[in-house]
Formats: sequence, structure tokens, C-alpha cells
Amino acid sequence: MTVRTRFAPSPTGYLHIGGVRTALFNWLFARRHGGQFILRIDDTDAERNRPEALQPILDGFRWLGIDWDEGPDVGGPYGPYFQAQRKDLYYQAAMRLLETGHAYPCYRTKEELDAERKEAEKAKKSYIHRGEHRQTPPDECLRLYRHKPALVRLKVPEGRGVIIDDLIAGKVEVQTEAIGDPVILRADGSALYNFATAVDDIHLKITHVIRAKEHLSNTPVQVLVYEALGASLPKFAHVPVVNAPGSNKKLSKRDAKKFMTPEIVAKLRAVHAVPADWTDEQVMNLETLNPVMVAFYQALGYLPAALVNYFGRLGWSLDDKTEIIPLEDMIRHFGLERVNNSPAAFDPEKLLWLAGEYMRMLPLEDKTAGVIPFLQRAELVGDSVDEATRIKIRRVLEACGDRLKVYSDIFQYGAFFFRDPIYDPQAVQKRLRKEGAAELLRNISAELEKIAPFEHAELETRLKPYCEANNLKIGDLNHVLRVATTGVTIGPGVFEILAILGKEETQRRIGTALQLVESV
Ligand code: GLU
Repeated sequence: MTVRTRFAPSPTGYLHIGGVRTALFNWLFARRHGGQFILRIDDTDAERNRPEALQPILDGFRWLGIDWDEGPDVGGPYGPYFQAQRKDLYYQAAMRLLETGHAYPCYRTKEELDAERKEAEKAKKSYIHRGEHRQTPPDECLRLYRHKPALVRLKVPEGRGVIIDDLIAGKVEVQTEAIGDPVILRADGSALYNFATAVDDIHLKITHVIRAKEHLSNTPVQVLVYEALGASLPKFAHVPVVNAPGSNKKLSKRDAKKFMTPEIVAKLRAVHAVPADWTDEQVMNLETLNPVMVAFYQALGYLPAALVNYFGRLGWSLDDKTEIIPLEDMIRHFGLERVNNSPAAFDPEKLLWLAGEYMRMLPLEDKTAGVIPFLQRAELVGDSVDEATRIKIRRVLEACGDRLKVYSDIFQYGAFFFRDPIYDPQAVQKRLRKEGAAELLRNISAELEKIAPFEHAELETRLKPYCEANNLKIGDLNHVLRVATTGVTIGPGVFEILAILGKEETQRRIGTALQLVESV
């Protein structure tokens, strides 16, 4: 039997990372067993469904490398893969259930049903609806329905248990006494979630339904639909939720602030080219991107492979220690038996660490290609990058080394290579307005003029003895030179910076810095 899994997003908003993790588990499981992964779009809820929300979902999966064997854009033998286009299938299945005595029409009005519910509440009994046509023979049910369409309810068998051997949650048993006869078709002929899903999963020949734990409570009804339709059951695996950082509550869009370290806020400012007078609060409230969305990480320049590794480890483990698991290994070893049956906690710091590890492993050429669009968007390099600029970017990346964990780190550690320094007033105060700093800068400038070739090793060999001879600490020299040439206090090693800038540019910047300190 070929393993077939599916992910069934409702395009009601955005691609939540909890959903991506569930999709990834389905994908990994299918790949692990040489099976198929199907993307089905659950777009029956016309009110909440937003067609424009579909493309970002597809783009997000493609960016992560989660491809689908059947579904939107690629088609497949069991299409269409949009529930809104599968209505006939649900209708036919409901008619089959009427014919076989597994369903019946229900003519109760909403008011009558509400009254029943209220009465049950008053009597402190749980409300279990059994319709009046439960015992009506199938022929009569069909005749009634054809004469006057109504709600269609599933006839829940009496006095037995429904057992789900969940591959993650374990054995779950529910008594049918606790399940009211569910509506499967509305009076307008449209299907309800539990029915449409079961009909689809049967029709799509899904062998493993791996989905969010919140659907475990829906599963007994779906099992009864399978049984009524005479289909064999798939295996079920319900994946626990992803919790917000440092919390025992499900991660939600409102948790954005929990992710906002000062570094992330700085990155968002750069990526969005936010006006400088915006407060951090305004930046954090940017609606366009939210840390519960995959697009957030894409915008900040996380490598997709790092995210896939992180999402894969979110609740699943290879063993008790391995964190960096390349995709091939993940596919080779993925199994539901090692998915934890308790919520996973999202940890942005660990994700950033992992992002850094993946960035470190990335060949310099790929890193260069990856960072260019970021520099372009910030207008630090032009639309077409010539060879000289490309070489410069490569050198900057080499100088940044492991500091660059995600592409947008380039703004923090290397923007000044591509534009004039923006002098940080505090850094200027501390380093350049110090007693003797200007004179020191002038002397170093004179010394630099003599150095050729103007390269890292040569700068180091020549400036060290210069410091010794002048009773200077190398650290002091570094601080002064760094702030004068970059405007800030962090970045790659100073000699590397000077070498990349070149002698002329270095001297020009030192000149600007001197003017700045001497202007007041
Ligand atoms: N459309 C449902 C959801 O987004 C799918 C549930 C399922 O996988 O059965 O939650």
C-alpha cells in the first residue's frame, strides 16, 4: 500500500508556523515511505475563505521546499483539490448514506433545535440530538428528502464505543451515547467539515491523517462516516500544538511581541525601511509581517533549510541530542513514534542559532547570491550588480564571518560598506570626542598613507609596531578607527574593514569624522 498523506489548509488568513510544522510532518512521512503528499484546499467556508490567501500559502511551501505530488497547480488523478469544487462528491455520498439507512433528513427548525438545547442545559444534561426520522426506512427518507430537501444527519449507531488508535495520542475511546447525530449536509446541499473531510480522505485514498490535535475531538464522527460509507479507516496521528515562547498557550498572532528582541526590531526596521522616527512599538505592530507567519522569516533572510530543520525538530526528535539534522537525514529517520505527545514550545533563540549554523555551512557564493536582494531592496547596491561589487560583497561576507546568521544581519554588520557611515552620536561621544582622539586619528591617518599594499595583513604588521612605538593600546586604535570609518561600534575586524574600504575611502571617512568632531 502506498503511503498517502495530506495537508488541508483553509485559506482564511496566513500560513501559521504550527500549520507548516503539521504539513512538514505529513511531507516527511510521505517522503520517508516513498509515498505521496497531497495538498487539499479546504475552502468551503465562503465567509471566512479569502482566495487571495491561497497564493502566500503555496509560495511559503515552495520557498521551504515542501512540494506536493497532487494539489493546486500540479493537479492529480483525484482532483479537483479544492473542496469548493467537490460539492457533487459530498452530495452523492450523502445520498448514498440516505439510501443505505445511515442518514436521515431532519426538518427541525433552528428555533426548535435551540429550544431542545436550552432544555437540556436546564436539566444539566449534555445535549445529544437524535432526529425523529432515525427509524424511518431508507426509501421513505429518500422520498422525503427528494420532496423537500432538509438537513441530513448521520445516524450514529447506538450503544457502542468508537476507538481511535492514534499514532501519537494513543488509544482514544468515545461512546456513541456521547455523540449526537451530526448534520452532514446543510439544507442548501453544502457539506459540513467532518463529512467533507472524511469523504475527501476516502476519495483521495489517504492512508495517514496527520493533523493538529484540535481535530482529535472531530475524529470519532469522521470514523463513523468512514464506517457508514463502508471505507476502511486510515491511521490517525494528532500532533500537539506549538506553544508561544515561554508560555503554555498556543502560539497565536497576538504573541508577536514575545519574539521581539532588540535585534529583531532592528532587523525589521532595516528590512522594511521604516522611517527613523518610528518607535519600536510601531515597528512591532507592523501588520504585514508577524513572527507566527513563515513570511516573517523569509523577509528577515532566514535560510529555508534552517527553518525546515527547526520545524522538524519541533516535537519530533531523532534522538535525545541531535539538533542539526540535514533534510536527507530527517527524511530517512522521520517517524511518528518519536513525535512528542505534549505541546512543543517555540524558541526563537534556538531558531536563530540554527539559522546561524546553516548560514555557516553555506558556500560563500550562495551566501553572496542570497544577500544581494537584501542589499538591493535597501538600495545599498544597484539593480544590476557588476563584478567589482560582487567581489566586494563577497569580501564583506567573509569579514562578517559567523556574525551573519540571517541575511538581514548584513544591515547591522555591513551596511556601512555600501553607503557613507551614519555616525552614532553615542559612539562619537565616547570614542572620537575623547581627549586626544582627534590628534590620534590624524597621526594614524598619516601612518596609513604610507602603507601599501593596503591589505589586512600589511595593516596589521605595520600598525602594531606603530602602537608600541607610540605607547598606544591596539584596542584604543581599533575603537577610534572603527567609529571614524563605520560610524558604529560593532562590525567585522577593523583591519578587514579598512582593507575592504581601500586607502582612499578610509582616508576620506577619517576626514569626515575629523570634521565632525572639530565642527563643535
Ligand atoms: N481545514 C482544516 C484545518 O485547517 C483541516 C483539518 C484536517 O486536517 O482534517 O484545520
